[in-house]
Amino acid sequence: MYDLIVIGAGPSGISAAVEARRAELTKILVLEKGPAHSQMVRTYYKPGKRVDARYAGQEAICFGLLCLKDGDRESYLGLMDAVIDQYQIPIEFNTEVWSVTPQLSGGFIVKTSQKNLETKCVLVAIGKMGKPNQPDYPIPTSLRRGPQILFGINSRPIQGEKILVVGGGDSAAEYADILSRDNAVTLSYRKLEFSKANPLNRKILEDLIAVGKVRALLGSNVTAVEEHSDKARVVFAEPEFEPEIFDSILYALGGVSPVEFLRGAGAETNERGEAVVGPNYETSVPGFYVAGDLLGKENGGGSIIAGFNSAAEATRDLLKKYFDKSLEPEIVSLDHLRF
Ligand SMILES: Cc1cc2nc3c(=O)[nH]c(=O)nc-3n(C[C@H](O)[C@H](O)[C@H](O)COP(=O)(O)OP(=O)(O)OC[C@H]3O[C@@H](n4cnc5c(N)ncnc54)[C@H](O)[C@@H]3O)c2cc1C
Repeated sequence: MYDLIVIGAGPSGISAAVEARRAELTKILVLEKGPAHSQMVRTYYKPGKRVDARYAGQEAICFGLLCLKDGDRESYLGLMDAVIDQYQIPIEFNTEVWSVTPQLSGGFIVKTSQKNLETKCVLVAIGKMGKPNQPDYPIPTSLRRGPQILFGINSRPIQGEKILVVGGGDSAAEYADILSRDNAVTLSYRKLEFSKANPLNRKILEDLIAVGKVRALLGSNVTAVEEHSDKARVVFAEPEFEPEIFDSILYALGGVSPVEFLRGAGAETNERGEAVVGPNYETSVPGFYVAGDLLGKENGGGSIIAGFNSAAEATRDLLKKYFDKSLEPEIVSLDHLRF
């Protein structure tokens, strides 16, 4: 019987495990479906990608032991390697959690691809990008299965292509920036300005548009994608945007909450499929906590620091409530980072 099982070894899951270790909770385990920690970062961040501490409009103030300063994908991964090593975080890789079932006698059964485990408390930190948002129009299967339709930037090399990036948030801005170095990039966004991207990404994007490195179709809505000689013919709702042929389309539309996972455990969810939690991130099921991106932006998710914080606060709460262990919050300013 574990005291705490953390599901997902991304920023939030690692932060939770670090706080539990700081309180000397020994019977903890992190379960990660990928072969290494931070799978989402490894999949969706291009090597060398800038990582902003202040991201998606969130403040860079940390309330747990983990914090982050501006860096890049590699410095983030290095930070996590150091933390896992220093706190001896036990992680079982290649172990996907399929379900969590509360027991009548208290505690939970965690069913994984490898075995069933028992635990007193569970903290779910599986993010949303296991299920990227899909466009709401059908895409021919031949294109969807082929190299033309992309939901991330690392699934294959992208070079010398005429590519359409669909979206207008930070991911879309960063994809457009990186791809514009080796490709002819068009960006389709339904709004008239990039209000969702952070100020730095917005500025980079506006500069790229100004010098003609990225072509922006603002106020455009794709309504259909058709196959055209192994390429994608894109049709827009607005008559001012003519149908156009692209080698590939990269969707940057965010992710969907794995709602069945939460509901299967009996946790209440909102209309966006996100877990409904109390102030300390406990769901409607006692002992079942959620942290990070699964909570939605501005509710404990949306950035690495938001994930660090919600997971640290959730863990401090469960330590106190279920193990009678008190941890003081650490308020870490970016000038006094421990790592
Ligand atoms: C392109 C892009 C750029 C970004 N840039 C920045 C940035 O510069 N700065 C910033 O602060 N934020 C950035 N973000 C946001 C940031 O990456 C996320 O907010 C953060 O990673 C969320 O952390 P998390 O731990 O909640 O979830 P995730 O990072 O999604 O981690 C979830 C982990 O759970 C694992 N998992 C999923 N399902 C299961 C399962 N069933 N069983 C076991 N394991 C499972 C996954 O493999 C993964 O390792 C960016 C996001 C994207 C997509």
